[in-house]
Amino acid sequence: MLKMTESPNETKLVNFAMANGTRRKIINFLADGYRSTGEIGEIVEKVALDFHLKILKDAGLIELEEETVKLSEYGKNFLKGKKETNPEETTDFSQSKPIEIVSIRQVLPCIADASRLRISSNITPPPGRVLKLLEPLFQRSSYSDRKNSLIIQKGEIITTIYGSGKVSIRMVKNENEAKEELERLKSIINEAIAKGEAPAPREKVKVNLMEIYKHLPQTNCGRCGEQGCYSFAIKLMARQAALELCTPLKEPEYANNQEHLEVLVNYI
Ligand code: SF4
Repeated sequence: MLKMTESPNETKLVNFAMANGTRRKIINFLADGYRSTGEIGEIVEKVALDFHLKILKDAGLIELEEETVKLSEYGKNFLKGKKETNPEETTDFSQSKPIEIVSIRQVLPCIADASRLRISSNITPPPGRVLKLLEPLFQRSSYSDRKNSLIIQKGEIITTIYGSGKVSIRMVKNENEAKEELERLKSIINEAIAKGEAPAPREKVKVNLMEIYKHLPQTNCGRCGEQGCYSFAIKLMARQAALELCTPLKEPEYANNQEHLEVLVNYI
């Protein structure tokens, strides 16, 4: 086991230093090497920077030379031995704060249907891994552990929320519809956060064969190894095939189908 510190007093100093989100951010920022205080000042509030650096130095985690900061040997070992938990990566629902919609950043035509729009936005604070716990709040939703993203479907509208706070809404008729959907999601999420408890697992939605088939490209190209899309839909329903085998779905024109199917297969 990694020797963290020499005495209980030093342990206290390290614990105190690492109990603060800004200081954890600085330590992680230094993982790649030297940084100037100016660079660190760009990622954290400058106003208390000297204070935070002093605490990290007193705990023996960093070395400070003029305007240059680096991890000490002890700091490097500390970082290696302790997998850092970003506060935004917490899965403790009771620690979550209400979300706010920052702005609508980008409005573009949908790839799948040029008469509809896809809109980018942001929510703050970033939900991190708490996103996973939000999945049961929505009847049609699918959480991806790999991407740390949550896809939520309401009618034709598909919203993807990422752990980073980025939000993408597709298939909306106009900006107002996107705003309404964002407000709807915000109020559902904030209501759950106010309760302070993770939502109970939801009942599985029933998916039928035709619904799956309807969203496949229906070109019967055979690239999935099946005779056609209908056979592939049967295999999907029987959980004998993975959606990724239908490679045409990766083409831009099927982007919307792909998102729908990603949600649907989750309920098989
Ligand atoms: S690869 Fe996709 S489009 Fe081609 S037959 Fe299979 S399911 Fe249909």
